[in-house]
Amino acid sequence: MKSLDLLIVGAGFGGLYMLHKARSMGLDALAIEAAPGVGGTWYHNRYPGARVDIQSMEYSYSFDEALQQEWRWRERYAPQPELLRYANHVADRFGLRDGIALNTRMRGARFDEPTRRWQVQAEDGRQWSARFLVMASGPLSAPNRPDFPGLQDFEGPVLHTADWPHEPVDFSGLRVAVVGTGSSAVQAIPLIARQAKELTVFQRTAAYAAPAHNGPLDPAFEAGIKADYAAFRARNRRMHGGFGSALPPNPVSALAVSAAEREAAFEARWQVGGFALLGAFNDLLLKLDANAHAAEFVRAKIRGTVHDAATARLLSPTHTLGCKRLCVDTGYYATFNLPHVRLVDVSQAPIERFTAHGLRSGGRDHGFDALVLATGFDAMTGTMLRLDLRGRGGLRIQDKWRAGPLNYLGLGIAGFPNLFNIAGPGSTAAFTNVIVAIEQHVDWIADCIGHMGRAGKATVEPTEAAEAAWTEVVNAAARRTVFLSCNSWYLGANIPGKPRMFMPLADGFPRYADHCAHVARQGYEGFVLQ
Ligand code: NAP
Repeated sequence: MKSLDLLIVGAGFGGLYMLHKARSMGLDALAIEAAPGVGGTWYHNRYPGARVDIQSMEYSYSFDEALQQEWRWRERYAPQPELLRYANHVADRFGLRDGIALNTRMRGARFDEPTRRWQVQAEDGRQWSARFLVMASGPLSAPNRPDFPGLQDFEGPVLHTADWPHEPVDFSGLRVAVVGTGSSAVQAIPLIARQAKELTVFQRTAAYAAPAHNGPLDPAFEAGIKADYAAFRARNRRMHGGFGSALPPNPVSALAVSAAEREAAFEARWQVGGFALLGAFNDLLLKLDANAHAAEFVRAKIRGTVHDAATARLLSPTHTLGCKRLCVDTGYYATFNLPHVRLVDVSQAPIERFTAHGLRSGGRDHGFDALVLATGFDAMTGTMLRLDLRGRGGLRIQDKWRAGPLNYLGLGIAGFPNLFNIAGPGSTAAFTNVIVAIEQHVDWIADCIGHMGRAGKATVEPTEAAEAAWTEVVNAAARRTVFLSCNSWYLGANIPGKPRMFMPLADGFPRYADHCAHVARQGYEGFVLQ
């Protein structure tokens, strides 16, 4: 069994940077990756229209000045193929390939108390012994495939947005069905509609989508940022979500201005596009009555775009804006004006069953030739809970997390010494430009490992008290927002039977990062180092 300092699970953006960082510290590290290539999310989510919803100049690594200067993004919001090229460029540029075992799916890992090492097994039987285990397996990496009755009877192809084929998919001449209307569906639907003979969209909850206004990246804008990229990154790291310093949130309440001023502020942000709308006022994600104004603004946009009044009504969300992640779109609502695109509401009459040639819902049969499941992920915990992961005393992660993903700072789990989690529950990653979140996590983990080496410590593990207090921090932060007012993947509400616990920290990245740094300065307060 090969012995390592560090085993990293995943070679997406988290795993790649962790590997680079560990090697730069002289550690013997290996990243294992289930896919045949690097890139994680951007390897798997190849559905038509897949692109990032944070601007390219921000959704990229900041750890290396030469890298950020030399890489050139083509579009304001990078599409999936370009992001995948970037991940591959990083793997090559930093010579990471020989530290990555591709086609290697983790089966499980067991903490061996006598040796204080993790014994890690792959599905194919290979094993490693590692002092540290870093989970860089991603918060949105376990596709959710609802247990629809009769799905196996459907005779056409069944695709999932998060597990899209590598060969080109051609929907020409086909009647296509899409189930789901979250961020993935909202990006895919306009492009599928261009090809398909007929498109039927099965919607359980209507989506709020703000326009991306995507386009070629302006070279002058790029040059302006590159003139002092470090300062631009530093400004973004002080923003609530780790991005968007070019247009900071308006520090005014939506309830403190006139209706006309509100409308003007929403419209100005709508013209900027993407998440800018959520920063039109400082309380849109904190107060339901402030939020209601923004929600109505978007509904008016939908009514102004969609010609058929009944379809517009159905497309208009009634839940709190931003409570489920705001979608960023290109032509989503307008797609429903096309004569061959139909919207079917499955909120009242859920999908009853699939048949050989379609599905039955609300007592009606809907026929189609190909099915796209845009049904999302078992988010934040799904990937880890599918593993046979056992900590101290054989404690299974499934038992530890029976009532929800207990953790400290999102980084450590009591009972699982020397295991670190990147961008998981308990951290702000889901509300942050995730590359900013990843860099902060990796740097913190590397500092902790460095500290242990200098202090001659073998293990680091949070106390149960620190973990319980942190759970309360996460819960309290959620209670101060509007995020508890709807069913979202943040709450585990999209997966039947999953415990309801608000998983990400809604406290803002700067405050969280400062707190993690404080914990480290205090000699890793809340952790036991032995
Ligand atoms: P999602 O937001 O969870 O959306 C899944 C959709 O499937 C929802 O509309 C959901 O309805 C529906 N659904 C699930 N089970 C269903 C069932 N049994 N019957 C009918 N409908 C069902 O998943 P996603 O669109 O893949 O996005 C997940 C997250 O990934 C996003 O929130 C975002 O963080 C990230 N993402 C980002 C981008 C981007 O723009 N860069 C693109 C894609 C994804 P309900 O709402 O009623 O549950």
